[in-house]
Amino acid sequence: MTRFDIDVLIFGGGAAGLWLLDELTRRGADSVLLEAGRLGSGQTVASQGIIHGGLKYSFSGIVSASARAIADMPDRWRRCLEGAAEPDLSATRLRSPHCYLWATRSVKSRLSLRAASAGLRVRPMRLDDDERPEVLRDCPGLVMRLDEQVIAPESFVKALADRNPHRLVRIDPDRLKVERRHAGPDVTSIVAAGPGDACTFEFHPRSVVLAAGEGNAALRRAMGLPDQAMQRRPLHMVVVRGALPRFCGHCTDGARTRVTITSDEDAQGRTVWQVGGQVSEDGVEMDQQALVRHARAELEATLPGVVGSDAAWSTYRVDRAEARTADGRRPEHAHVAQDGNVMTAWPTKLALVPDLVDRICGMLPALDGGGDPERQAIEIASDVVRPEVAPPPWECDLTWTHVD
Ligand SMILES: Cc1cc2nc3c(=O)[nH]c(=O)nc-3n(C[C@H](O)[C@H](O)[C@H](O)COP(=O)(O)OP(=O)(O)OC[C@H]3O[C@@H](n4cnc5c(N)ncnc54)[C@H](O)[C@@H]3O)c2cc1C
Repeated sequence: MTRFDIDVLIFGGGAAGLWLLDELTRRGADSVLLEAGRLGSGQTVASQGIIHGGLKYSFSGIVSASARAIADMPDRWRRCLEGAAEPDLSATRLRSPHCYLWATRSVKSRLSLRAASAGLRVRPMRLDDDERPEVLRDCPGLVMRLDEQVIAPESFVKALADRNPHRLVRIDPDRLKVERRHAGPDVTSIVAAGPGDACTFEFHPRSVVLAAGEGNAALRRAMGLPDQAMQRRPLHMVVVRGALPRFCGHCTDGARTRVTITSDEDAQGRTVWQVGGQVSEDGVEMDQQALVRHARAELEATLPGVVGSDAAWSTYRVDRAEARTADGRRPEHAHVAQDGNVMTAWPTKLALVPDLVDRICGMLPALDGGGDPERQAIEIASDVVRPEVAPPPWECDLTWTHVD
């Protein structure tokens, strides 16, 4: 067993853990990230990849605390995605440079679109008929363009992971041993083993950050911390594959987003739509067949005639893991809980990850700032199993159906 005395030990290689690892490494901290499965395999790779700027939280006409918290994020991401700021994420693939917003005939729908435009940093631009994308050409109501970028999340995870490959370690989460200081919550040592008969490490970290999404609940139990800090909000997402246009956008209806569509290409070059918004909330109580029928009706109502009868449909379930709120709704901000030298982090949104990382760095004890890559202990271990990046949902084992 090899012993490592390090500054920060991070659990979880989704957006939060990987961005934090990169930030800490650039600040000269000796950090290691432990991943139980595939990188981004919880929410990040299953997400729609929209770098929200708050519009989604303003359809009621009120600029909420969530909208204010997220307002600076699109600019920050944009600079990283262009390679003009750290972390350089220029290797990330963009699904789209912007999203469209459209309203249905309902008055509620049109009003919400107008109301949402007020008071935001990234404002939607009203489009004339000839500026509309083909898919919204015959839309009876307002059509707007919103400069919120949409990333392909698995390429973002890979771009971040490739910056620090030697600090990523795949572990078996069931073979973790945690030692704590007798009086107080501080963790003094963690023994982690790789999968199968891969090597075992003994870490003595100054700080531990749990950034494992829904895995944080079990990790908090393993660290002897109360595990009621987290809530799960389930989604049942829809995927449609076929002769579809590439398109990213939200159809609004009152304060809710009726459908949110993001699109990409699968490994065979076919267009795939990921459908979220209210449809994926409604779908939680439905089985796959019922949800596909519901989603088809919603798409026909919001984008008539666009999805043909030859389209293949599927669904997947995924929980959003967040800090617990009193009413069980989405938290307004990214959240970090501190228990001694252990921090538990949930970004709430992919877009809020940079803000989450700022918060964590502000709470960590001052770092050595040595910045000497030679000093980075984990790089010398040769028999480490490195985690892979998770594939997008439509490349996983889904059951596809056709609807008459
Ligand atoms: C369907 C869906 C769509 C979304 N769309 C958007 C969007 O368009 N825009 C937006 O801003 N946000 C979106 N979100 C929210 C966003 O995806 C999440 O807030 C964000 O990805 C969470 O990142 P994370 O790193 O905290 O967690 P995760 O992405 O869940 O990563 C956790 C990682 O920890 C690992 N892990 C688990 N247990 C352990 C353990 N015991 N030890 C070590 N590692 C462990 C997992 O394998 C995983 O790699 C969406 C969420 C969902 C579910």
